[in-house]
Amino acid sequence: MFVQSLPLEVIQKISAGEVIESPVDCVKELVENSLDAKSSRVDVEIIKGGKRYISVRDNGTGIHRDDMEKVIQRWSTSKIKDVSDLLSITSFGFRGEALYAVAMVSRLVIRSRFFQDQLGIKMRVEDGKVLEKQEIGMQIGTCVEVYDLFYNLPVRLRFLKKEDTERNRIIKLMKEYALSKWDVHFTLTSNGRKVFDLYPCQDVKERVELLFGQKFEERKNSKDGVSVSLYTSLENTRGEIYLFVNSRPVQNRNLLEYIRKTVGYKKVCVCYIDLPTYMVDVNVHPKKREVRIYKERLVKELIRELFKKTPSYFNFVLAQEKASYTSNVEIIGIIDKTLILAKIGDYLYFFDQHLLSERLLYEASGDLMASCKGALKAGDDMSKDAALELVRAWLNFENKEVCPHGRPIYYRLYIGDIYKNLDRRK
Ligand code: ADP
Ligand code: MG
Repeated sequence: MFVQSLPLEVIQKISAGEVIESPVDCVKELVENSLDAKSSRVDVEIIKGGKRYISVRDNGTGIHRDDMEKVIQRWSTSKIKDVSDLLSITSFGFRGEALYAVAMVSRLVIRSRFFQDQLGIKMRVEDGKVLEKQEIGMQIGTCVEVYDLFYNLPVRLRFLKKEDTERNRIIKLMKEYALSKWDVHFTLTSNGRKVFDLYPCQDVKERVELLFGQKFEERKNSKDGVSVSLYTSLENTRGEIYLFVNSRPVQNRNLLEYIRKTVGYKKVCVCYIDLPTYMVDVNVHPKKREVRIYKERLVKELIRELFKKTPSYFNFVLAQEKASYTSNVEIIGIIDKTLILAKIGDYLYFFDQHLLSERLLYEASGDLMASCKGALKAGDDMSKDAALELVRAWLNFENKEVCPHGRPIYYRLYIGDIYKNLDRRK
């Protein structure tokens, strides 16, 4: 009398909304597909925190033209064939429901050119249905564009967070993939502005330093088939920990807390754990990133040993870093009466003159209001000597990155990158 089966369309939307709950889930699935397709470059673009638009473009193997319509069908995957494959998963995806779910809850455009084909296929999908399919000229690889996520699922739309929050989640996610696949070129653009452009690196350390813009210490340890590589920032900042198990970004609260205690609360720490796949339980739920490790005790032991005794050469490295950092500051100029451009060590720094001066006053007085009012404004004249003094003072601050309100004080470029981009070896 009262009970009736739900229409298929409603069931499909509900389950799609479980796989893709927010823009970050969508970006995650698309980026993982690109990485599974062996791409060496992945470009991600978002507008309005991904709520309005998401695009993920790669130069991977592409999708075969005969598969184009299959990829948006539920449980269609090229990655596993039978149950036994589940025991040795090396790809990110395998459930074959991500593209299906995205297709159900957005307006989707997929362009793909299979590596053995001369032309690509463009396919437009709405509400899970193919509206248009045509041949197009394009580079080998795939580009998936997602417009108006949840336009047809108002409940989900209402529960999306503010643009800033959604964007920050995506930035965090992209950082994780950049750290996991350090040899892949990643770019992230948000509302038309580059958030980062990370060229392919030679090793993990190079990527870690490139991403966080500072030097890191490397520590390694291994035993019984389990190995740990751990990178900690030399400078103290707001502590952050990134954990990877067999290259997969994961959460494991217990282990994260252990690392935080061991490493200290003010360090950025990137920890890679590698162990045979049979020792890890990657939960088969689509989004659970919580993993269980069967040799967790051993992993902790390996980490603890790394910090038991700091080899003396670490201290030596530290001392050297500091010295070279503080010694040579060169003020190159002041741009638009707003930005101080300085060369410090191997970096070009762009300081916001107001924020820098405000931070200096705050450091001296501890009074936020007064220092904000008293500080130099953008547009105020300043001599190079005054700028030099400001920057020199800044070098001695504890937490150099932010102004008293938490805004970044500077933006910096590694000069080596500039040479690299100009194809000049230095
Ligand atoms: P899964 O990743 O679990 O296999 P998806 O729904 O995410 O499922 O993708 C379905 C299939 O579409 C994949 O198995 C793959 O064959 C193909 N595919 C999706 N994205 C790409 C891409 N960027 N490059 C190449 N093939 C892709
Ligand atoms: Mg996938």
